Amino acid sequence: MLNRTKLLMAAVLVAAPILACGAERAAHDPDRPNVLLVTMDTTRADRIGCYGYAGGTTPVLDRLALESIRYTRAFSTAGITPVAHASILTGLFPYQHGARVMFGSVEHRLGEEHPTLGTALRDGGWRTGAFVSAYPASEEFGLGRGFETFDSGVRDELRDEFRETPPRREGLWLDQTSVDAQRRGDATVDRALDWLAAGDAPFFAWVHLFDPHDHTLVPPAAVLERFGVPADGSGTRDQAYDPEIYFMDQQIGRLVGALKASGRYDNTVIVVTSDHGQGLGDHGWFQHRLLYQEQIHIPLLVKPVKTAGSNPGVESALVRNIDLFPTILALAGAEHPVETEGSVLPGIAEVAGSAGSAGSAGSTGPRIAYAEALIPLDTYSSPRLPKQQWDNLHMIVEGPWKLIHHAVTPSNGELYHLEDDPGEARNRWESEPEVRERLLGRLRAMGALHVVVKSEGEGTVDPEAERKLRSLGYIGG
Ligand SMILES: [Zn+2]
Repeated sequence: MLNRTKLLMAAVLVAAPILACGAERAAHDPDRPNVLLVTMDTTRADRIGCYGYAGGTTPVLDRLALESIRYTRAFSTAGITPVAHASILTGLFPYQHGARVMFGSVEHRLGEEHPTLGTALRDGGWRTGAFVSAYPASEEFGLGRGFETFDSGVRDELRDEFRETPPRREGLWLDQTSVDAQRRGDATVDRALDWLAAGDAPFFAWVHLFDPHDHTLVPPAAVLERFGVPADGSGTRDQAYDPEIYFMDQQIGRLVGALKASGRYDNTVIVVTSDHGQGLGDHGWFQHRLLYQEQIHIPLLVKPVKTAGSNPGVESALVRNIDLFPTILALAGAEHPVETEGSVLPGIAEVAGSAGSAGSAGSTGPRIAYAEALIPLDTYSSPRLPKQQWDNLHMIVEGPWKLIHHAVTPSNGELYHLEDDPGEARNRWESEPEVRERLLGRLRAMGALHVVVKSEGEGTVDPEAERKLRSLGYIGG
């Protein structure tokens, strides 16, 4: 409020020049809702307290959930960072928005023709800022469009703040807040808090936190000890996972605390989700990229503004990360610049002035979730992935059924009944031919199986990009 008053006074004192350059924003109502979008990298829903985890990882999110709609059946579109984030920001499946791999012989950048949450809210008069914690969420993948401030910490003027990546070593790396291609959540939130304090409303802030992704940057020793992990750096990657989630939760708490302290909490839409989960040994894989539930089922909390008419609660309908684009615009009362595949989440009351949308895949039958992993086409797919998963994988979920089509070797296809078999242990590909053929038919009709491979030479690896990806543990094939 103070900032706005100051600005108004400045405008009165030097009216002509200030109004001339600030006319666009001044035309918009400063009381329109703010939006805070937090994406937690590599965070499994089943490691979060309000999703049933007893490990004490998320006191902040558990409190936030009491004022939010908590979605119990939310799906990502991919198990890798840039592809999932492109879906969150555009409301489109990967085969629609075009960013389908980390790097390789198919496109890895979000197409410039697609509006994003950044462009739509900026064009609507919101002040836009993104604060990301790692290279895979950076401008390199086309995720920066629309953000007046894009603070990735890995490029341009911020590069100097990052030390050279030390040689990889075993154990946990203590006492660092940033290395070449990623930074710890506290460093990112410091930047976001500065930005929040420096400007007026309405704002759209996207904060991306990377802590649970790997064991390169770990929380301070006191947090490790709280979870029984040795504070001397001798712990393992898996031991670091819960303390990393706890540390990230604490950083989200700093954001929530700042909004409350500045009186903006009630008028801020807060969305917290993850881009994907983590294998942690399930289905023979410790990291992410595959399409099993531990990697594709995501947590999702949506706290509307106090007056929006949406009540806190639990929603068990199937939803997708692509639904966030139309939902956030609806809650903010912003224009939908384009029809998207995603639709406004169930349980959300729209602010007057926004329109709904419906996509092609959703309109031809019951609502589905879709995800993909084009593993042989991605330079950074690990050669250590389980052999049967070395394929172009396309997932569709409809009702209780989940099908994973293996495009290269279709006979390796998988079909699970998620209610009877939540651990995806019993493949019913052979025993349920009718379900299988119906879901395969939907995948084909959606256009999801169409993959455009670049011509020779277009897929040459940029050495700087390769160095960054390697420092994050991605190993080129
Ligand atoms: Zn990620």
